[in-house]
Amino acid sequence: MLLVRGGNSVIIIDGHCDVLWKMYENPLINFYEPQQAELDVNYENIIRSGVKIQCFAIYLPESIKQPKFDDYLEYINIFYQKIAINDKLTVIKNQSDLLQVMNGTKVGAILTLEGADAINDHSLYTQILYHLGVRMIGVTWNYANWAADGILEARKGGFSKKGKRFIKECNDLGIILDASHLSVRSFWDLADHSSSPIVATHSNAEAVCKHPRNLKDDQIRALIIKGGRIGMTFVPWFVSDAGTASIAQLIKHIEHVCALGGEKHVVLGSDFDGFDKKITDLEHTGQMDNLAQQLSRFYSDQTVEGFLYRNWFSFFKTNLPVS
Ligand SMILES: [Zn+2]
Repeated sequence: MLLVRGGNSVIIIDGHCDVLWKMYENPLINFYEPQQAELDVNYENIIRSGVKIQCFAIYLPESIKQPKFDDYLEYINIFYQKIAINDKLTVIKNQSDLLQVMNGTKVGAILTLEGADAINDHSLYTQILYHLGVRMIGVTWNYANWAADGILEARKGGFSKKGKRFIKECNDLGIILDASHLSVRSFWDLADHSSSPIVATHSNAEAVCKHPRNLKDDQIRALIIKGGRIGMTFVPWFVSDAGTASIAQLIKHIEHVCALGGEKHVVLGSDFDGFDKKITDLEHTGQMDNLAQQLSRFYSDQTVEGFLYRNWFSFFKTNLPVS
């Protein structure tokens, strides 16, 4: 259990991890096995760090050249057959599930999608994903798809007409839209067209570390103004220009977002299980207490709790579907 300065226990909500990808690549991995070393986020680490809610992303690797809807279904099958299989974990699909998890003893899991490529403008697919529990969608990975351009797409375009229709469809269904990985133009298209607040589940501040996946100050301000959230991510090359990173350097990103007025908008999006080289002492979910303790040196308990879970909680409480 994590303790902040006042001795209160702290819980965590993590907006992004790639556990499903690892389990897709290696079907032998058991999420519940004690000392499961293949996964940064495993059940044992979740319990050790008091992670209350974990988001699980469906991320199809680049090796799948033409992603199909079936590929999403394979991931969703892994989620329901290997993770959401017992009374230890509740799948959160709406506000009442959220409150039930927050007030109870079980861990909550939210299914998300990173890369809408295989939806391919099929509104039926979007609706089916919703019915299967997907509640947050990052429209692109790094490159372009039918809906929008990602951050590494050379032409630096924005959303297509179909993509803009998709934004509305997600808004209408109650699927939260995630701006991480979008090109700068796509980011602004999303900010302009989404009627609901948007998030960046795993992106840091470009002013602190000049990686293209990080957000510029005006983007961070736009997220804040729209009531969105920015998920601080633990990928070392998004944390520090040197490529190796410390928790202190990660906190510089938090400090920067706070300086832009985002104290209530900073959340966590570890991206654990999506990268190999780690921040020292923040190498897996079981080490979240190191982050909590260092944050406690600079911020009040209440503010630390905001970063670690309250800011995500208040967001989901208003932006998940009611029932
Ligand atoms: Zn990602």
